[in-house]
Amino acid sequence: MAGIYLHVPFCNSRCIYCGFCSTVSRNLRQKYIPALKREISERRDFFSSLYETDQRIKTLYIGGGTPSVLPPDTLQEAVSAIRETFKIAEEYEFTVEVNPDDIAEDYATSLRKMGVNRVSMGVQSFKDSHLKWMRRRHDSATAINAYNILRNSGFDNISLDLIFGFPLMTIKDWEENLEKIIDLNPEHISAYQMGIDPDTPLERMEKTGDFSLPSQEESEEMYTLLQKKLKEGGYIQYEVSNFCKPDRHSRHNSSYWNRTPYLGLGPGAHSFIGRHREWNTSDIATWCDSSTLQIREGETLSPEDVFNEILMLGLRTTDGVNLNTLRNCAPQSPVFLSDLLPKISAMESKGLITLTKDGTIKIPPERFFISDGIIRELFVC
Ligand code: SF4
Repeated sequence: MAGIYLHVPFCNSRCIYCGFCSTVSRNLRQKYIPALKREISERRDFFSSLYETDQRIKTLYIGGGTPSVLPPDTLQEAVSAIRETFKIAEEYEFTVEVNPDDIAEDYATSLRKMGVNRVSMGVQSFKDSHLKWMRRRHDSATAINAYNILRNSGFDNISLDLIFGFPLMTIKDWEENLEKIIDLNPEHISAYQMGIDPDTPLERMEKTGDFSLPSQEESEEMYTLLQKKLKEGGYIQYEVSNFCKPDRHSRHNSSYWNRTPYLGLGPGAHSFIGRHREWNTSDIATWCDSSTLQIREGETLSPEDVFNEILMLGLRTTDGVNLNTLRNCAPQSPVFLSDLLPKISAMESKGLITLTKDGTIKIPPERFFISDGIIRELFVC
């Protein structure tokens, strides 16, 4: 089993908090498909080291940026190039990220015709004042309308994103946002705590004293409310930031956490296979203009890196990570485990980690808010 991620690095405007690889410049849009075709052709054998059946693409995810700023014909050209080159499984999850203000009936119909069976839409908040401050292009009514259009077009697997943890948002606002999203009843919800990424307007505002994040206590209160409300609404938490209706988890994102091989196409996209990671340049013009051989860097993960990565990715999920998986991941694992096991015991006694009878370690969901700190403490070196 394998996956493909395609990065579309274009947006019509930039949001205040966004550190993603994207540009509002329109000059490069016409260079995107030729450059993508070059990259696809060069990467056609990316999965060839896998067994034949494992080479089939089970998940295709088009993200950005804003894929929905591309006209359907252009998106279709990208998808066709991928389908012509890689072995696509008969049943596969095909997700496209969209912005609410790009969604009209004909656009939704085009996505359906393209074979898209899952849509992920960035709503972020149902409060217009929040959206305006974030410099999002849509308002709440547009988001709800777009959701209804997608639903009426036949999409039965819709994911909506929300953001919490910024000063404008009160706990009451957040509660209302959660009630609104539960009312809409999407199959999947991702909720992210706002952070300050480098080279963003938010970072500049922080430097001039015009912005600061709320206290950890305030953000934790919001996170706890998120877990409580979504549980009451029938959603299952399966990862720190991700919730879904039964069997509606994101297969693509889950494959990252399971370390399934994936190929990333487009500027800034990452790829992973075996113990090897690669990443394309985030310089969009360079990616569009260069022969792709010049645009990629990579690294082979050390045994410690593999061990720590399995630990980190597993502990962010509610499934946790089994000690046998860690034991078998590298020849040096017994040494790493002898470092890890005392830390697990110490954390277990503080209620930060649970160890099940079958040897699975998990972070209890009520501790997910501080999971980054817990995981850092457990890393072996
Ligand atoms: S639409 Fe998405 S990718 Fe584009 S600027 Fe906003 S957050 Fe970033």
